[in-house]
Amino acid sequence: DINLNLNVRGLSQSATLAINEASRELMDRGRKVYRLGLGQSPFPVPEPVVQALRDHAHEKDYLPVSGLRPLREAVAAYHARAEGLDVDGDNILIGPGSKELMFIVQLTYYGDLVIPTPSWVSYAPQAHIIGRQIRWVPTQAENDWRLTPEELDRLCRSDPTRPRIIILNYPSNPTGDTYTLDELQELAEVARNYRVVLLSDEIYGELHHTGEHVSIARYYPEGTIISAGLSKWCGAGGWRLGTFCFPRSLRWLQDAMAVVASETFTSTSAPIQCAAITAFDRNTEIDRYLDHSRRILRLLGLTLWERLCKAGLSVTRPAGGFYLFPDFSPLRERLARRGIEDSETLCQRLLEESGVALLPGHAFGRPLSELTTRLAYVDFDGEAALACAPALESGE
Ligand code: PLP
Repeated sequence: DINLNLNVRGLSQSATLAINEASRELMDRGRKVYRLGLGQSPFPVPEPVVQALRDHAHEKDYLPVSGLRPLREAVAAYHARAEGLDVDGDNILIGPGSKELMFIVQLTYYGDLVIPTPSWVSYAPQAHIIGRQIRWVPTQAENDWRLTPEELDRLCRSDPTRPRIIILNYPSNPTGDTYTLDELQELAEVARNYRVVLLSDEIYGELHHTGEHVSIARYYPEGTIISAGLSKWCGAGGWRLGTFCFPRSLRWLQDAMAVVASETFTSTSAPIQCAAITAFDRNTEIDRYLDHSRRILRLLGLTLWERLCKAGLSVTRPAGGFYLFPDFSPLRERLARRGIEDSETLCQRLLEESGVALLPGHAFGRPLSELTTRLAYVDFDGEAALACAPALESGE
């Protein structure tokens, strides 16, 4: 590996893939495995969106680098509706997954990347690949792992004029939790004081279990980029379509990203962009699909949360998405007697001894010595669950 780029040299295969491989080996040997490691939507893509894809399968041309104009308009209208933002199609950039857009925003922007932990597994490796400086902000279990305005202020105050991108992800992968309106407002105030760029990863926003998901862009419109896409709420992770919604004040960043995009991925696949217009425009069938998905996830999330609490674990009540972040530290002494003293050993032993595949909190930026884990409650037949969902509506 003598000719490997130094930034890539230290990176290893993701913990998610390692647990998947170990799970598959066990399954090949005939063991029942509860696959609670992989975070993929269990639901099929809604039928009107699949139909739109079929209808446009013949589209074959390269598209404009920022995305198809009607799709950009549809995404802007969606954010304008949801958050009352003053945006139109010009504010939108379409890419092959929000992950790719996050990568090129880091390539393009000059400054530190601030990551509150626990956080999604790919933010930090992307920063490493680019050679970008990471500032970790460990959040606290007693605050339900939410970043507090005080923590954000302390970080910014240490070097007030330093350019930074701060990532906020809610509903969160890995905790399943989200912020209250007051908290968003207070965080927005701090962000405005230091004029930081907020990258608001709202890929699970539509899977908010009850009530409405609110973006911090409502309180800090001039400095927030909203990251969203089809992967989670539309069950279409493999289609690869992500969206960034920029404020006008960051047009220079958006334009530079479009240049990078034009020299790298060129544009997202044409049939997928056409199908995404249907998804973002929504109709009553899609609204119903989404309503049912939320009800199913809420029921499962709450049931699991109650069970885990009863088993003596410390877990935050889920508010959105399909994850829980169980902390086994209340059982630390018992586990230590069995030689389990860190999150990776805990996950290996859980898999070997009970066939339960979880991911170690260490993969989400927490210290190895913690006994935190991520549980994805998606190991069920989404199509069958959706078929039963009308019964949930009537409370049966
Ligand atoms: N952000 C978070 C928090 C995620 O969990 C994921 C996918 O797992 C992504 C972003 C990437 O989504 P996409 O499929 O749009 O690249």
